[in-house]
Amino acid sequence: MNTATRTNPLTFLHDQLEDLKAKGTYFHLRVLQDEQAAVCTFDGKKVINLASNNYLGLTTHPKLREAALEATRKYGVGSGAVRTIAGTMSLHMQLEEKIARFKNVEACVVFQSGFTANSGTVSAILGKEDFIISDELNHASIIDGARLSRAKILVFRHKDLGHAEEQLASVRDQPGHKLLITDGVFSMDGDVGPLPGLCDLAEKYGAIMMVDDAHASGVLGRNGRGTIDHFNVHGRVDVQVGTLSKAIGALGGYVCGSRDLIEFLYHRGRPFLFSTSHPPSVAATCLAAFDVLEKEPERIDRLWENTRFFKKELGNLGFNIGGKNTPASETPITPLIVGEGRLAMEFSRELFKEGVMATGIAFPTVPEGKARIRAIMTATHTREDLDQALEVLKRVGKRLGIIS
Ligand SMILES: *Cc1c(COP(=O)(O)O)cnc(C)c1O
Repeated sequence: MNTATRTNPLTFLHDQLEDLKAKGTYFHLRVLQDEQAAVCTFDGKKVINLASNNYLGLTTHPKLREAALEATRKYGVGSGAVRTIAGTMSLHMQLEEKIARFKNVEACVVFQSGFTANSGTVSAILGKEDFIISDELNHASIIDGARLSRAKILVFRHKDLGHAEEQLASVRDQPGHKLLITDGVFSMDGDVGPLPGLCDLAEKYGAIMMVDDAHASGVLGRNGRGTIDHFNVHGRVDVQVGTLSKAIGALGGYVCGSRDLIEFLYHRGRPFLFSTSHPPSVAATCLAAFDVLEKEPERIDRLWENTRFFKKELGNLGFNIGGKNTPASETPITPLIVGEGRLAMEFSRELFKEGVMATGIAFPTVPEGKARIRAIMTATHTREDLDQALEVLKRVGKRLGIIS
């Protein structure tokens, strides 16, 4: 066979990349060359980092580092199998028990990531006779799980309880199960889901209530217990998802709920059944992280102090930080909305040149016309870091006509 004449069947991908370049939303990955920290080095440049989800600075916490090293020395680098075959180590069980106690629920199962926790859970507990009533801004992993389940998906307008109720009412007489699902904290806008109202609706319509607390874990609630604790709706949320990849500083996701829910996921959660479990170092790191949440609450206090300060100053500078035709951020996630994708990307590049790392986010991650850079506070930014970042944001924002 003459391979030289074979046409490349992937040329359409090249064409699509060219499209992105024409739109100005093509990007190169920035490469971190030292630790994930408030000030660090990307692509050879030292920058103030406003882009990570390392809310509490735990990626470099000495106790977590030591826990990972000790687990590696004792148990090696990998678990060697999926959980259901031979890959359940005692560290995995200890972590699940610890999280269940922390969340004050019967049981917990840990997945490889928050993404697989959501997609694996939604697709496992629902089938094609069922209904998923989902906020329009819910995370991609919820959307993928909903699609995989083959249940009928009914989307309600962002945080709109009236619309959520309409959707629930429209399927009230159908026999299938109903799942009402929301992000606890929305990842692109930093606003908080209306949990009490949604719990009322779930109870009224007999729906399963599920909350994805990825950005609330370690951030909201007592010692970072999340939005369920923040709103005191304990016992009213059937399925609580959290991540170990953001504030917890390592990697993973978990589902908390009843013993039956967790045992069912042990048997039917596809990422749990078909993908290898965490290395012992990761499980040990997460165990140590939950100790830190309980013993060092001052980290969360600092996170919120920085958040309040930074948001106030950004507002004073005249940035649109949400609330005008967009949800208003209530958390350390602060969008600086500029509109066009091309402008958001240029804003991000110019900030980087002047020493501030803040990622540009455009369609399809956020709606057309609502492109932004997203700034995230951490507990480890110093006041000097923030003053310096604000100075750069002001200068570049004026130069690009984003603020006057
Ligand atoms: C980040 C995120 C996830 C995924 O968590 P990972 O642990 O990074 O896979 C899920 N849901 C929401 C809302 C998120 O922001």
